[in-house]
Amino acid sequence: MKRKRINVTETYLPSKEEYESVIGELWETKWLTNRGSIVLNLEKKLQNYLGTETTPLLVSNGTLALQIPIKALQLSGEVITTPFSYVATTSAIVWENCTPVFVDINPEFLTIDENKIEAAITKNTTAIVAVHVFGNPCAVEKIEVIARKYDLTVIYDAAHCFGVKYRDKSIFDYGDFSTTSFHATKLFHTGEGGAIFCNDKSSTDLIYNHHNFGHDGPLAFHGLGINAKMSELNAAMGMALLPNMDYVIGERKMISEHYDRNLNWNTIRKPKLRDGVEYNYAYYPIIFENEKQLIKTQNALNEANIFPRRYFYPSLNSLPYVAPIDMPVSDNVSETILCLPLFVGLDSKSLNWISELINNSVD
Ligand SMILES: *Cc1c(COP(=O)(O)O)cnc(C)c1O
Repeated sequence: MKRKRINVTETYLPSKEEYESVIGELWETKWLTNRGSIVLNLEKKLQNYLGTETTPLLVSNGTLALQIPIKALQLSGEVITTPFSYVATTSAIVWENCTPVFVDINPEFLTIDENKIEAAITKNTTAIVAVHVFGNPCAVEKIEVIARKYDLTVIYDAAHCFGVKYRDKSIFDYGDFSTTSFHATKLFHTGEGGAIFCNDKSSTDLIYNHHNFGHDGPLAFHGLGINAKMSELNAAMGMALLPNMDYVIGERKMISEHYDRNLNWNTIRKPKLRDGVEYNYAYYPIIFENEKQLIKTQNALNEANIFPRRYFYPSLNSLPYVAPIDMPVSDNVSETILCLPLFVGLDSKSLNWISELINNSVD
C-alpha cells in the first residue's frame, strides 16, 4: 500500500500565532538585523534553557560557527578531526586553509577515537575539531588532557547537541569553543542559524568582532571579520519554537523507544551512548551487518514511500579535496549506517509499518 511520503525528518514549526506574536514588534521597531532585541533576547533565553556557563553568540549558520573560531585564533597547519560527520566539519577546516588530519572513530560511540589522537599529533598540529556525533559526547575529559599537554585548541562541532547534558553540565560547556547549528533539519532551529559558545573567555571579544565585520561600533575596527549575524526573522522562529522544546524532545523520546521495542536486534545494532549522557533524541541511527543489508532495507522502505537517510556517507576521508587515507572503522560504519525517520507527528501506525519493513528485510 502506498502511503504519504515519510522523510528522515520533518521540520517542527511553532504555530503561526506563536511566530506572529514574536515578529509583531518588527513593524514598530523596523529593526530587522544587527543584533536587534529578538536576537539578544534569544541568546539569554537559550542560555537559560540550556543551562550553559556562557551566553551563546547567535550566528547565521553552523558552518560559519565553526569557521569563525578557526579564523579568529589564526589556527594554521594541521587540525585533527573525525572522518564521521557532516561535510561541513571538514570543509570548514579546509576553507580556513588548514589541513584536516583524520583520526578514526570508536566503533561503538562513533566519536573520534581519543586513544588514536596522540599518534596523529605533529609539530604542525594546532587544534582538534571533534564532533559529538548524533548528540553522543566525545571523550571530553581525555581530549582535554591531550589538548593541554600539546597546547591545542579544542573546538567541538556540537551541531546535533541541542539540550544534551553530560555529567550534569550542558555539552556546550566543554571545549574552548562549542558550535552548533540551528538549520531547519536540526532538533531546534531558526530556519538557518547557529551559535558559538565561547568557553575560552579571553576570546569572547575576538569571536564577536569576527562575526560582525571586525567591528564593535560604527567607528571601531579591530581587524578582519565577516558578516555572520543572525537576522531578527530567524531569531523570531527560535523564540517561538523554544517554549515547545520540552514537548518536541519528549515526543521524539517516545518515538525512539517505539523503535527500541519493535525492531529486531538480531542483526542490526545501535551506536552506544556514553555513560552520563542526558540525551536529546536528535537522531535514530541503526547499523547493519553489511552494506548489502542496508541497501536491501533502504529499497524496501523507499518502495513504501519511506525515505531514511544515509547519515553520514561517504566517510569524509574520501572527499575529493583531502589527501586520501584509509579509516577502516569510519569507512565501515559509513557504509552500514542508516538514520530512521524521527520527528514529531510520526504516528504509531507508521512506526509499526517502518519497523515491520525493516524486520522483514533483515531476517
Ligand atoms: C548541520 C551540520 C553542520 C552545518 O550546519 P549549518 O547550519 O547547516 O551550516 C555542521 N556540522 C554538523 C555535524 C552538522 O550536522
